[in-house]
Formats: sequence, C-alpha cells, structure tokens
Amino acid sequence: MDIKKIDQELREKTGTAAIESYTKYRHRQEPAPAAPGASVLFLGTGGNPEAVFSQVPRTAGFILVVDGLRLYVDPGPGAVVRAREAGLDLGSLDGIFISHGHLDHYAGAEAVIEAMCWGMFVRRGVVLAPRQVLERDRLLSIYHQGKDRLSGYKGGPTVRILEAHQPMPIGKVALTPIPAYHGEENYGFILQTESLTLGYTSDTNYIQGYTTPEGSKDLSYRGPIMDLIDIVDYRTDIKEAFSQVDVLIANVTSHNVYAHRHITTLGLAHLLRGSKVKLCIMTHFNHCCLSPDDLRPPMATYVEQTSGVRTLYAVDGGNYNIAEILRR
Ligand SMILES: [Zn+2]
Repeated sequence: MDIKKIDQELREKTGTAAIESYTKYRHRQEPAPAAPGASVLFLGTGGNPEAVFSQVPRTAGFILVVDGLRLYVDPGPGAVVRAREAGLDLGSLDGIFISHGHLDHYAGAEAVIEAMCWGMFVRRGVVLAPRQVLERDRLLSIYHQGKDRLSGYKGGPTVRILEAHQPMPIGKVALTPIPAYHGEENYGFILQTESLTLGYTSDTNYIQGYTTPEGSKDLSYRGPIMDLIDIVDYRTDIKEAFSQVDVLIANVTSHNVYAHRHITTLGLAHLLRGSKVKLCIMTHFNHCCLSPDDLRPPMATYVEQTSGVRTLYAVDGGNYNIAEILRR
C-alpha cells in the first residue's frame, strides 16, 4: 500500500470537494422568485410527543409560499430531512416563523436557519419568534440568531420579536401575530396578502365551558370530552380573529382529547360556524388521530358538516395550491 499516494489523492479530492460544496451551498446565487399565488407544503402534520418520537405523523411544520414570500412555519424535529426528501431548497427561504417554545414547533429551526443563511455565510432571511424563545429560554443559540460576533461566521438571519396584534411587513405581505392559549408565550398569525387573508391558529385551547345532559361543565376535567351537547364558553378573541380570514390553517390535535390545551375538532367546528372562512386545512395531529385508525377523514367530515365550511386534512408531504382548491 502506497500511503504517500493515498495521502496525495485524499488531499486533492478533499480540496476539490470542499470548493464544490462551498460554491453550491455558500457562495451561491439567489434563487428565482417564487411563482405568484399561494400554496402550503406540509413537510409534517404531527404534533405532541408521541408524534415527535414515532414520526407518525411527521413533525416538520409547513412552508407557505405567498406573493413571492417563502416562509417556513414551525420547523419541528425532522425539518431539514423532510425538506431534502421533498427536493426543497431551504436556501431559498425568506423567513422562519416560530409560534412557541415547544419542541414540535422549534426543534428543527437552527438547522433550517443554517440552510436559509447559506451555511451562516450570508446575512439573509428573517426569524420571527416570541421573546421567550429568543431571549428568556434562548431556544435558538445566539449564533443562530446571527448575533455571535466572535464565531467567525458573518452570516445569520435578522431576528424580529413577535408582538401581539402588531403587523409586521415581510416582503409584500403583512403578518399580524395573534396570541394563543397554550404553554407560555405563543402566537398564531394572520397574513394579509395581495389576493387573500390567511390565518394560522398555532396550538391554542378554545373550549372553556359546555353543556352536558347533567348540566354545565368547564375544562377542569382533562380526559376525553364524551358528553358535550353545546359549547357555551369559548375563546371569543380567537373566534373573532380567525373568523375574518379566507383560509385557515388550524392545529387541531384531536377530536375530543387535550381540549385544555388544543382546539380539537369539536372546538374548530364551533370556531368556523358563521365565519367568513372559505377553506380550512387541519393539521398538527396527535398520534392517536392516525393509529390504530385513521380518524382524519371523519374529523374533516365532522367539521365541514357541522360548520358549513369546506375543510380538508393535511397529509405529510401534501402541497396545497390555495387558488386551485378555491376554484374547484
Ligand atoms: Zn404543538
């Protein structure tokens, strides 16, 4: 074995390969602008711990493409892997939105930031997140917030702190954070685009009290809701805010469990009733919605029939062209 020859070959090939990857990922060109219109690509549709560690359903969040803006919403565990599988160029992203500091919503964000900022080589893209995520709990490192002056990497995102009800312009659209009731600091949003208004609920509770054959109940009981007749007390601000949008992406979690922390489809049907929403897409399914039975089709049917609003359930890897769906 000629060790000198091996060494020489390794030096040459590594040098060439390093230049190649550097050119491909760091010293690269800005991608072509996104096509006009609005679409949502669900890299994952799961939420809560069982989905995180079983990946049924996946927990990678979704990418919104609206009016030329490419925004990654809640990149959970698996985000970069699912993006690679979908053949997606994360270096084309314009921004990342993190609703709150729970693993299924932020754990993939640092890797996505490295991709968006081209290996932390350039300053590009924006990260929108609650103060708690950025400052108090520092769930994104200072380096990934683009603020580590000593790292030697000059790149990184612009970081913007979400403020309730304060519209933030990004590209041609404006994003208004809507406070949610789940965990600590947490926001959904309303996105005002040229052609439509799109809402995202994030994780939030909704039902506060309901009637049963035995009388009224509040949400202090945390097991499955079996005896609901009608919802009488609910988050009125959530209903008011999201009733006004054209398209709503709703994190449901389940039909009737975890209602103290999540909308559930029982709550979503109530939220949509009498609203202006033309299309609702449900996501953030707990593992129990897919195993042992796939409960998503009856969940969508329940919401659509009860609310009168067209309702779809998102599937892992599904890409939804909003204008096309609304035309159908
Ligand atoms: Zn969640």
